[in-house]
Amino acid sequence: MKGFMKHLLKSQTVHSTSESMEIFEFKGNGTTKLFVGGLHGNEGKFTEIVLKDFVNLLREDNYVGNVVVVPKLVENSRYISTLSEKYYETIEGKTLIKIIEKYRPNVYFELHTYKEESYKKLTGNDRKVPPLIDIGNNILIASISPILRNKFDKEDFCMTVEIPSWKVHEVKDEIIKILKIGSKYPTRDDIIKKLKEYYPESIKMAKDFSKRYHLVLF
Ligand SMILES: [Zn+2]
Repeated sequence: MKGFMKHLLKSQTVHSTSESMEIFEFKGNGTTKLFVGGLHGNEGKFTEIVLKDFVNLLREDNYVGNVVVVPKLVENSRYISTLSEKYYETIEGKTLIKIIEKYRPNVYFELHTYKEESYKKLTGNDRKVPPLIDIGNNILIASISPILRNKFDKEDFCMTVEIPSWKVHEVKDEIIKILKIGSKYPTRDDIIKKLKEYYPESIKMAKDFSKRYHLVLF
């Protein structure tokens, strides 16, 4: 049986000010899917615009498994890249690990935002990790930080989505379309297959990168 619960965790677990981190939990059977936004800096103010709309769609009961949504993990934190071990020593990084250990998701989406001037850096070749892939309209996708990916099984699905912060309202529906693939389809293979239908060239590119960098594709 499906039901909807909304939990509010007190903010001191995340940040020293009086804000609170919200967790929306939709109960179902089988696999668990986790959608987290706003991991550092102030990107949460953009990711929550997308993820709160996503929560409203989930209320219409159109999903498979347990779905957990954290629209904004942290507010106004110091920016530390999730590619660095140091991130997982911050309060928000530790909170993220706690949430993952609590829910043990098989499907995991991480939403970030970036500024226009960072586009070249994120999609360029001079990174330790594969470049992020522009699937259209400056929406970037990739796997997640290898440090965090190691906490999941190979058979799990893990994706980073970088939202162009300067046009979040313009790209919102497209991003929700991607998140809905995650919430609707039960397994890693099903999700990748569906993504391939929508973004054949981007997924092919992601596959090539994962081979070249010896990393799991998503
Ligand atoms: Zn970020």
